[in-house]
Amino acid sequence: MKAVASPEEAFRLEDLRSFHVLDTPPEQAYDDLVQLAANICDTPKALISLVDEDRQWFKARVGVQILQTPRCDSLCALAIQEPDRLLEIPDARHDPRLAHFPWVRAEPGLRFYAGAPLVTAAGAALGTVCVMDTVPRELTTRQRASLQALARQVVELLNLRRARAELEFVLGEQHVRHQQLELQQRRIEQLNQDLQEQTMVDPLTALKNRRALDSALDHEFAKSERSKVPLCVLMIDADHFKPYNDAYGHLAGDQALMLIGLAIKSQTRVYDHVARYGGEEFCVILPDTPLPAGLLVAERVRQSIRAVEGLRRQMSCSIGVACSEGVETPKKLLEFSDRAMYLAKQGGRDRVESYLPPPRPVPL
Ligand code: GH3
Ligand code: MG
Ligand code: MG
Repeated sequence: MKAVASPEEAFRLEDLRSFHVLDTPPEQAYDDLVQLAANICDTPKALISLVDEDRQWFKARVGVQILQTPRCDSLCALAIQEPDRLLEIPDARHDPRLAHFPWVRAEPGLRFYAGAPLVTAAGAALGTVCVMDTVPRELTTRQRASLQALARQVVELLNLRRARAELEFVLGEQHVRHQQLELQQRRIEQLNQDLQEQTMVDPLTALKNRRALDSALDHEFAKSERSKVPLCVLMIDADHFKPYNDAYGHLAGDQALMLIGLAIKSQTRVYDHVARYGGEEFCVILPDTPLPAGLLVAERVRQSIRAVEGLRRQMSCSIGVACSEGVETPKKLLEFSDRAMYLAKQGGRDRVESYLPPPRPVPL
């Protein structure tokens, strides 16, 4: 049965695991330090050994082939029992604690061992930097100090490793959070776009609403000023719509507005703008269209509304046409198309009229 680890040992193992170094591939920085240990102490063998729960595992090795041994065969496990000092065994044959060690009993067996504990900032001894030889010997004071300095350097390397891993983790988390934010942002943008579309579309006819038309007119007017190609605006008002509503009900009125909208749309090009401007008023922008062509479209629209099928009675409309030539602002253009529409009403309805602004006074 496995012995229950003491609280100190449990803490030590936890600290060791926090470095995530066990069973990692060899690394030049550790290899360099262990080679320095062997060179400075002039020994054929040196190790950076980490004492795990049931084994000691070697992060770096000189003159040793195996990667790990059982903990019960570990001299480093002995060394870490006294974390504050270097364990030095000049001749293992004369140390009763080591009599059972297979390394010592082998021929040529281990004779000399010196291990400097790797002590972390938290006070845990993770393992050692150790040097070994098959002949008895003793270290000089400077060699001992150097071995302990190398142990401190190994701990620094481990600290850097852990800090880098923590930083990578935080950066990874940040990356995930950043991606989540971007996703959220895209959703919000999509929602905004949906909302924008909803506020630009007339719900009854699915045509543009007044706001969308105003914005399209600003855009087309500016374009026409740049290109010097005029545009036309058609203001279309259903004739005697109120009596239709009164006679057949509001729902039938709605149905009629939808059919009128479709009829208008059927006479326009894809880049024209068709809007429901108000109750039973529609407005069309015809980009790149001089007045004669605008009047032709308006006449086609008038006829298509007269030909709408599915109404309780035939419907007609009055259409006002205004052209942007000589007109200063989009607002004025709309106003002129409205005036033209009233001319059509006054003229007896079911007709197309245009309105030409009075010529501008020529500066003297
Ligand atoms: P005119 O020939 O002079 O334009 O007469 P008209 O009856 O068409 O004009 P008037 O402005 O007197 O009436 C417009 C009517 O349009 C009144 C209103 O109830 C109706 N109307 C406005 N919006 C809607 C709507 O969304 N649905 C329905 N069914 N009727 C609407
Ligand atoms: Mg009206
Ligand atoms: Mg009307």
